[in-house]
Amino acid sequence: PHLYKASQGDMRKLDLADVIFYNGLHLEGKMQDILEKISKQRPVISVSKNVAQDHLRAGSPEMGSEHDPHIWFNVQNWMSAVETVRDELSALDAVHAEEYKANAESYLTELRELDDYTREQIASIPEAQRVLVTAHDAFGYFGDAYHIQVRGLQGMSTESEAGSQDVTKLRDYLVEHKIKAIFVESSVPRKAIDAVIQGAAQQGHIIKVGGELYSDAMGEEGTEDGTYIGMVKHNVNTIVKALK
Ligand SMILES: [Zn+2]
Repeated sequence: PHLYKASQGDMRKLDLADVIFYNGLHLEGKMQDILEKISKQRPVISVSKNVAQDHLRAGSPEMGSEHDPHIWFNVQNWMSAVETVRDELSALDAVHAEEYKANAESYLTELRELDDYTREQIASIPEAQRVLVTAHDAFGYFGDAYHIQVRGLQGMSTESEAGSQDVTKLRDYLVEHKIKAIFVESSVPRKAIDAVIQGAAQQGHIIKVGGELYSDAMGEEGTEDGTYIGMVKHNVNTIVKALK
């Protein structure tokens, strides 16, 4: 799970909402309790609920039987989420069902293009260099869907910081495989990544920071990166530029 705490502002938004959509698969961590309470009064819907079972990944070992919650990094999973939102809104507000259908259709077309774009771009990186190293294990779905190996420093949760053992293990892996770039994440502290880079440098292997990826975050509202499509494209372009 992740450390999502609802702020006062968030609580107010939840209070005012007619319907609440959330990711699910335990991504919301402790906020789950709040959502459950609200669900007694209003529709509260997990957008991951209709993702095909064989499109879900297992979580990291410490997560037991839970799935990896970062489903949105396979664009096809997010298409399923769009369909779920369309169907739920149409059921709750049948008068506007045609509108929801048309809007979903045009957005799904954009997502299909995004899925193709991502696959083509990642395939343009030579295979030996196709390794994505990041701070926390958010990109497993991305790796599976777009055929790039993924290594994270601190597992799938952002609740605890990476320990010195994690740092040593990742450093050795990077030195051994001569990996040239490692990516930082906007939502994860940078300290441990810097420790890995320093450790490798002491062994004579220079690693550069390939750029900042959005993992559990998006860009500023009102910018391109502040949209789902812009966020995915930012990640893809950053990865390709650093690894190609
Ligand atoms: Zn995460």
